[in-house]
Amino acid sequence: MKLAKRVKTLTPSSTLAITAKAKALKAAGHDVIGLGAGEPDFNTPSFIIDAAALSMKEGETKYTPSGGLPKLKEAIIEKFKQDQDLTYTQEEIMVSSGAKHALYTIFQAILDEGDEVIVPAPYWVSYPEQIKLAGGQPVVLPAQEKNEFKITKAELSAAVTSKTKAFIINSPSNPTGGLYTKEELQTLGEVASEHDLTIISDEIYEKLVYDEAKHYSVASVSDELKKRTIIVNGVSKSHSMTGWRIGYAAGDKEVIEAMSSLASHSTSNPTTPAQYGALAAYNADESAVEEMRQAFEERLNKVYEQLLELPGVSCVKPKGAFYLFPNVKAAADAGGFATVDDWAAALLDEEKVAVVPGSGFGAHENVRLSYATSLSLLEEGLERIKRFIERTT
Ligand code: PLP
Repeated sequence: MKLAKRVKTLTPSSTLAITAKAKALKAAGHDVIGLGAGEPDFNTPSFIIDAAALSMKEGETKYTPSGGLPKLKEAIIEKFKQDQDLTYTQEEIMVSSGAKHALYTIFQAILDEGDEVIVPAPYWVSYPEQIKLAGGQPVVLPAQEKNEFKITKAELSAAVTSKTKAFIINSPSNPTGGLYTKEELQTLGEVASEHDLTIISDEIYEKLVYDEAKHYSVASVSDELKKRTIIVNGVSKSHSMTGWRIGYAAGDKEVIEAMSSLASHSTSNPTTPAQYGALAAYNADESAVEEMRQAFEERLNKVYEQLLELPGVSCVKPKGAFYLFPNVKAAADAGGFATVDDWAAALLDEEKVAVVPGSGFGAHENVRLSYATSLSLLEEGLERIKRFIERTT
């Protein structure tokens, strides 16, 4: 069958590819340590599972409004008020089938053919593909490692053209764990105001911040910036609910209306029982979220120290999410590997440790290690990486 041009240019997700290869090796009997995962390793808290099960028993198994259950939207509105002092109405919230779907729908709703969206690199793998699928043009803006992989106002301004429609902020970041401060967001926001741009603020890792760092949303800077910003968030990472597929977008009523209309013709609505699960998650206190956050923080602090001892490896300490993004170029060069991708492939073949090459995120000197796995496996994984580097250099 002849495929459409739009799918022929799609780049398969590098994170899913490495996870699939690691799974295949495992299935073939190899002792693989997978550090590629993009999801928490905990099960969803049981009170959430119970609430979803109960909702089904009580007959909540039908369609909901395409933009989501009004009472879930209410809980999301309350969350915004409490966490970020942001005020939204029901018409300014859309519940989606995961944050990924919220992002997809945003690009479909705001981009015309040829519109540019500035994507700071390292970036989450789906942004450029989703922009292209909407007819837009991703403009990759590399951030400096020495700036903790965060873009500056000057860099952002220089990337703006007459075609720029929007830019993305992902804080905390996948893959770097970088977190923008309020002041930094304020200055990036100035660029949006100067050039009349939309800001897409992906805050899916909001709850996973460490070392007393604070998450801040660009929409909280001023009313003017709130109007320009579409926040994307969800329960996947905060409540370990990746498989439930519940995310949401908050922003200007007109955009949200258009997005809900698009959803009404594509998904109809996010799965009803999953929305009830998310409702229970947001109506509860955050002790389950905090317990997971603390576990991640403990792992990060232990593993980060171990990582810094590896020859030819340097790493900016992440402030959030659950990834480390070390620069391994010196180790790869010393081992005679042409690229970091080759280095990562050899690491998987020889030591059975799966890490994700940074090239998929627009950063060719780094690899992404997820610490959403047990401390013992992480320590064993790092031991193997050490052995691999020592053997190959
Ligand atoms: N945004 C970022 C930065 C992510 O890392 C992910 C998931 O990996 C998503 C969005 C998508 O989240 P969800 O599972 O809710 O679709």
